[in-house]
Amino acid sequence: MSPFDYERATDAGAAVARVSAQPHAAFLGGGTNLVDHMRLGVARPELLVDVTRLPFSKIEPLPDGGVRVGAGVRNSDLAADRTIRSRYPVLSQALLAGASGQLRNLATTGGNLLQRTRCAYFQDVTVPCNKRKPGSGCSAIEGCNRDHAVLGASEQCIAVHPSDMAVALVALDAVVIVLGRQGERRIPIGDLHRLPGDSPERDTVLEHGELITAVELPPLPVAAHSAYYKVRDRASYAFALVSVAAALQVTNGRVQEVRIAFGGLAHKPWRAARAEASLRGAAATEESYRRAAEAELADAKPLKHNAFKVPMARNTLQMLLRQLAAGGR
Ligand SMILES: Cc1cc2nc3c(=O)[nH]c(=O)nc-3n(C[C@H](O)[C@H](O)[C@H](O)COP(=O)(O)OP(=O)(O)OC[C@H]3O[C@@H](n4cnc5c(N)ncnc54)[C@H](O)[C@@H]3O)c2cc1C
Ligand code: SF4
Repeated sequence: MSPFDYERATDAGAAVARVSAQPHAAFLGGGTNLVDHMRLGVARPELLVDVTRLPFSKIEPLPDGGVRVGAGVRNSDLAADRTIRSRYPVLSQALLAGASGQLRNLATTGGNLLQRTRCAYFQDVTVPCNKRKPGSGCSAIEGCNRDHAVLGASEQCIAVHPSDMAVALVALDAVVIVLGRQGERRIPIGDLHRLPGDSPERDTVLEHGELITAVELPPLPVAAHSAYYKVRDRASYAFALVSVAAALQVTNGRVQEVRIAFGGLAHKPWRAARAEASLRGAAATEESYRRAAEAELADAKPLKHNAFKVPMARNTLQMLLRQLAAGGR
């Protein structure tokens, strides 16, 4: 690991100023992703500004009926929160599907959103990777690409986004609150993460030095009827091959409201807008669920080793919608 300086932030503005002024500085949350990357040589920050003592560790009601989650709230605390479990079960379930109890005790809301891809070539500094070293090439395109993207990939990068929590937040239309040198801005979470395009080194639209301070959940009645389902190689401690976050409200046999996002399919959590449009007002039947899944996956471009993801995503979505319509999960 390269040597680095460490500072503990006591003021958010000062932390932003400190990191913004230093091109090789980074914020430190729970460290469960960043420190691993420092050990592997994937990240070599010269200064770490620890933001875990900033006053961002509360889960609070908002005047409009929504909920504000501080960026420092640990994943375990968010998953266990009574309001989250009853009003946004998809979020609690997504958090509990990620990592392990020990990791969730450390991992923060802000850090979870900004964790980097688990592409094995990204984590191996001996091989080319456009995300780690722009212009060096993508080892996954001709390599083992079983875990990689089937939607929205580019010729530069086919990696997938790893966070389970972010998939749930995208389905819930959360808003990310960010503090930068120019002040605060609000980013709809669907716009936070990027597709790789020609600059896969950029995972998000954040500028260097911008600090996530909170995530706001809107008041969303349909979210009370929501669930997360993750398909993975092992029952725990494994990233998603495919995951689905969904919320569904059925009235008189018809879909009144629906929210869907996929994980494991793309460089960002994938909001399934086509599937939602196909379902709104439709009969809540197996045929409607299948049609919706097929509409969303029509543009999928499977790679040599991951064609299984397309039927897996379709079947998982159908199964979850069926269970939600029956009042299950
Ligand atoms: C073995 C293992 C298994 C895992 N399995 C899963 C899984 O199945 N699903 C899943 O979703 N995750 C999984 N994880 C990942 C884990 O959830 C993340 O490592 C964790 O959420 C990152 O949060 P952190 O606070 O530790 O972030 P850190 O490691 O501290 O930081 C991550 C990034 O965010 C930046 N950052 C941190 N806080 C802020 C902030 N407030 N504002 C701006 N930038 C910030 C840091 O500079 C860094 O770039 C796993 C991790 C491990 C090690
Ligand atoms: S898929 Fe992306 S992260 Fe993986 S090797 Fe290719 S460029 Fe790097």
